[in-house]
Amino acid sequence: MQHIIEEAYDYTKKWLGKGKAADYIPELAKADVNDLAICITDLGGRTESVGESKKKFTMQSISKLIILITALKDVGFDEVFKRVGMEPTGDPFNSIIRLETMTSKPMNPMINAGAISVTTCIKGENAEERFEKIRETASVLLGDPDITYNKDVYKSETATGHRNRALAYMMLSSGIFDGSVEEHLEVYFKACSMMVNCEELSLMGAVLANDGVSPINGKLLIEPFHNRVVRSLMTTCGMYDASGEFAMRVGIPAKSGVGGGIMGAVPSRMGIAVYSPALDEKGNSYCGIKAMEYISSVLDLSIF
Ligand code: GLU
Repeated sequence: MQHIIEEAYDYTKKWLGKGKAADYIPELAKADVNDLAICITDLGGRTESVGESKKKFTMQSISKLIILITALKDVGFDEVFKRVGMEPTGDPFNSIIRLETMTSKPMNPMINAGAISVTTCIKGENAEERFEKIRETASVLLGDPDITYNKDVYKSETATGHRNRALAYMMLSSGIFDGSVEEHLEVYFKACSMMVNCEELSLMGAVLANDGVSPINGKLLIEPFHNRVVRSLMTTCGMYDASGEFAMRVGIPAKSGVGGGIMGAVPSRMGIAVYSPALDEKGNSYCGIKAMEYISSVLDLSIF
């Protein structure tokens, strides 16, 4: 497998320089756009890597999977899906329009409105306790007990995240959830700011690929039904409003984040992760998409 990811790396690095790091969260604009890492973890738990595979970056929207897994464990499927829908939108990740025009319930857990609503399901005395539940889920799935969040990115997002505040207040006013918007957003922004590297993401992809079972120690980490829910949402909604094209060109359940990471789970085969912070116009890692396309085609990984 090592030679495949090295070939993928050589193929992909031609596009370094295309796209642009996210700057609507000012701290993210400091990323090195020449970074590129690719990792694959097989279902025997072996990870192969190329590039800056140990460099930490913030998960951003990839944390939406972890928020969802935590909420499903905390309150169950029925409670979670009272507060969020199951359908793709075709709109940008931070869009507000459907909260007003179609349904007051956010369309799915992979867009910002949906993830904020799912965050409100996670119980706890305060924001610290609720974030700690998410952090613990992340630690278990990523194989790193010391997962933490990046305080600078968290502060930057708290200072500028007015659109997320608008989404949350719209949902509060429609009665989707109650409580303090600022507390819910503290949990959500901290989750988005959790730091991860490409190898850890690839391991998490392998857990999802392996029906929720750790490929390292055989422990069940995600209940199989919850694992199926997560993988189906990755397929239909994981790549923002490029999810349809990604399904056709790559065909792997995946989730991307504006920090430049993409995590894929190829059912019964492997986890794949890619990191490169320059994004295309939809918010997906420019080189990340190229690398996933290459690997999927060479190893014939499309699930379709
Ligand atoms: N923290 C980001 C936001 O809420 C996450 C966006 C993303 O990665 O798609 O805007």
